Amino acid sequence: MSRFISSKFDSLKPYEPGEQPTDKKYIKLNTNESPFSPSPLVQKAISDEEIRSLRLYPDPNANCLKNSLSKHYGVKKENIFIGNGSDEILALIFLAFCDEKTGMAFANITYSFYPVYCNLYNIKAEQIPVNSNFSINPRDYFNCSNNIIIANPNAPTGIALNIDDIESIIKNNKDRLVVVDEAYVDFGAKSCLPLIKKYDNLLIVRTFSKSRSLAGARIGYAFGNESLICDLEKVKFSFNSYTNSRLSLVAAIAALEDEDYFLKCRGVIIKTREKTYKQLKKLNFILLPSLANFIFAKPPVFISASSYYNKLKQMGILVRYFKNSNIDSWVRITIGSSEEMDTFIEKTKLIILEAQNENCKNGTQNK
Ligand SMILES: *Cc1c(COP(=O)(O)O)cnc(C)c1O
Repeated sequence: MSRFISSKFDSLKPYEPGEQPTDKKYIKLNTNESPFSPSPLVQKAISDEEIRSLRLYPDPNANCLKNSLSKHYGVKKENIFIGNGSDEILALIFLAFCDEKTGMAFANITYSFYPVYCNLYNIKAEQIPVNSNFSINPRDYFNCSNNIIIANPNAPTGIALNIDDIESIIKNNKDRLVVVDEAYVDFGAKSCLPLIKKYDNLLIVRTFSKSRSLAGARIGYAFGNESLICDLEKVKFSFNSYTNSRLSLVAAIAALEDEDYFLKCRGVIIKTREKTYKQLKKLNFILLPSLANFIFAKPPVFISASSYYNKLKQMGILVRYFKNSNIDSWVRITIGSSEEMDTFIEKTKLIILEAQNENCKNGTQNK
């Protein structure tokens, strides 16, 4: 059979999104979605009139949402870009600002979409090793020969850098673009938003998917210097001008308006994260300090991460396991509702107990 795909994609390996299985109902702790519904204002905003308006194209500039974000974050409209999820914005950033000469530098353990974009566009990927405790050493990024992208907090570790460290990276790369992916910043880390006024080489990428319970609406946004935003718009309008659906724009604006609901949900998730952390610690998991809506965890010695993942799945709980990687002895656990996490801990105790017994038996047999 003839193959029509360009040979330049022969070695392209697409990003593997977390499973969204439909065979049964799972407790989903695998894709960092919110356990809470979007704000009730979202449902109200998707009115019959909005549905009738679907015959019309959306505003290609997403002005309404830009106005809302501008008011909410105290940032001028010229400094805001809107995309179809932050993944799309990231894809446009790699396309717009990197080429054969200037690649992208990022941690060797970080969001696994970054190397995929490099691969897609044939951009050099400079992978900078994290420290043995999975933290990022800012000095490793000084005077870089490529653009830089840092997820802060990092994924899938949950570890955050402080603003001074990020500022030091920006300062020491005046001729390079520094992108800070703040997908999880609302769960306790400090945003480097104040820095966009000071530096013209900084882009901050954010999303409504995690902290605003709108993963299904696909809305991302970026903050940066006016000329960086213009460059992004130029590339966007050369690719697809209508990237955001009308209903999604309306949903995002409504979600942004409900600050009380946002603060409440995020507060519960942070509290549940701290509780889950303590419970897993007691069960002898090795844990990284997380400021995100997930915990990166290594099960105790007598059970492998893959076997733990599989047993949880059999019991109806999905967590994220990254096989074929340098982190295949870890799992990433999204913080669900308090009830979901109670079930998760209960099942984890069962699995651990069983593995421990199994281990003892084998130990005795070996003697
Ligand atoms: C989830 C995630 C994204 C993508 O979010 P969308 O806005 O849903 O596309 C981007 N960066 C990181 C680090 C993420 O974990």
